[in-house]
Amino acid sequence: MNIHEYQGKAVLKQYGVAVPDGIVAFSAEEAVEAAKALGTTVVVVKAQIHAGGRGKAGGVKVARNPDEVRSFAEQILGKVLVTHQTGPEGKVVKRLLIEQGCDIKKEYYIGVVVDRATGRVVMMASEEGGTEIEEVAAHSPEKIFKEVIDPAVGLQAFQARKLAYAIRIPDKLVSKAVGFMTALYHAFIDKDCSIAEINPLVVTGDGQVMALDAKLNFDSNALYRHPDIQALRDLDEEDEKEIEASKFDLSYIALDGNIGCMVNGAGLAMATMDIIKYYGGEPANFLDVGGGATAEKVTEAFKIILKDEKVKGIFVNIFGGIMRCDVIAGGVIEAAKQVGLDRPLVVRLEGTNVEQGKRLLGESGLNIIAADSMADGAQKIVAQVG
Ligand code: ADP
Ligand code: MG
Repeated sequence: MNIHEYQGKAVLKQYGVAVPDGIVAFSAEEAVEAAKALGTTVVVVKAQIHAGGRGKAGGVKVARNPDEVRSFAEQILGKVLVTHQTGPEGKVVKRLLIEQGCDIKKEYYIGVVVDRATGRVVMMASEEGGTEIEEVAAHSPEKIFKEVIDPAVGLQAFQARKLAYAIRIPDKLVSKAVGFMTALYHAFIDKDCSIAEINPLVVTGDGQVMALDAKLNFDSNALYRHPDIQALRDLDEEDEKEIEASKFDLSYIALDGNIGCMVNGAGLAMATMDIIKYYGGEPANFLDVGGGATAEKVTEAFKIILKDEKVKGIFVNIFGGIMRCDVIAGGVIEAAKQVGLDRPLVVRLEGTNVEQGKRLLGESGLNIIAADSMADGAQKIVAQVG
C-alpha cells in the first residue's frame, strides 16, 4: 500500500527523521492559511498524488508570498498531473502539501528496499539526488552505493558512515546523516515497509540534513498490525475495479491489455497470462477468483472484468478441483444476464462436474466459444480480439 508524501513525512518524523514543517490543504483557502501558520516567507506548494516526478510536471511550485500561494494552489488543485509514474491518463490532484521552503545546498538520494537477491533489507545512497534513480542506475551505476543489512543486528553505524562518506556528505554533517539513516531504517522495519525512498535528501545552507520528499510503500500482508497506516489509505488513488475486487476478496490487478481473464488459482492465472502473450495477445488483468469461489463471487468477478472498457474479449480458464465447473458456469451465466454480455467469451473448463458445467453454458443461449485446452482457448480469444 502506498501513502501520500505528507503522510509519509509524518510517519518518518515519529522516528526522528528530519523533515521540513508542512501542512496538508484541500483548497486554495486552506493553502493560504497553512502558509500563514508556517510563518516562513518562502513556502513550497506540492501536489499530493501517489506518484513521483511531480516537480517536472509542474506539481511543485515555490511561492514567495500569500498571493502566489493562492494562485499556485488554484492552478494545481483539480489539475490532471501527468508524470513518468502516472501513465498517460495522469492523476487528479485533490490535496496539496504546503511546506517550508528549504535552502538547498545539495540534493542526495537514500532508499531502503527489500532486496530479493540477497533476501535482506538494503540501504542505497547516491549523490545524484533529485533525478530519477532509474536514470542513475542506467547511466552511472557506479554512483549508487549499497549496504546489505543483517536482520539480526540492524543497520550498523559504520555502514551508515560508509554510505555518508561514499556520497560525499560534508564531513561536519556526517553524524547528522548517520542519525538520519538510522532513524529511516527504524521506521522502515517498525512499519513493515517494502520501500522507503527519500529523493531528495538535502543538506541545507544552515547545516541541516533532511528529507524533502518521502515515498513509503507498505507490505500489505503486514497491514493488519498497523491500523494507523491502514487509516491512511486513499481510495481516490486506487483503481476502482481493484477496490471493488478487494471487497469480494478477489485477487485482481488491472493491466494494460484487452483480454479479460477469469481464472482460479494464482499459478493458473499466471500461466493463462503467459499463454495469451505467447499467442500474441495482451491480458487486461490478473484475476484469481480463489479455490472455493461461490457463484456470487464469480458473478462479481465477471462484472468487474466487463466494467473495464479496454476489454475486447474474455477468457475464462477454470480448473475445477475444489471449485466445481457447474458453479463457475452458473456464475458466468448469472453475470452475463445481469450486465449483458456484449463481447466475445471463450470458456475452457476442466475438472469436477465439467460435463454439467458445459451443458449449463450450452443451454444458456449465450454466445460462448468453447475451448478444449489452454492453448486452444488462448488462440481462440486472441483471434476474437485481433
Ligand atoms: P517529485 O519527486 O515528485 O518531483 P519532490 O518532492 O522530490 O517531488 O520535489 C521536486 C523538487 O522540488 C525537489 O528535488 C526539490 O528541488 C524541490 N523541493 C521540494 N520540496 C521543497 C522544499 N520544501 N523547499 C525547497 N525545494 C523543494
Ligand atoms: Mg522526489
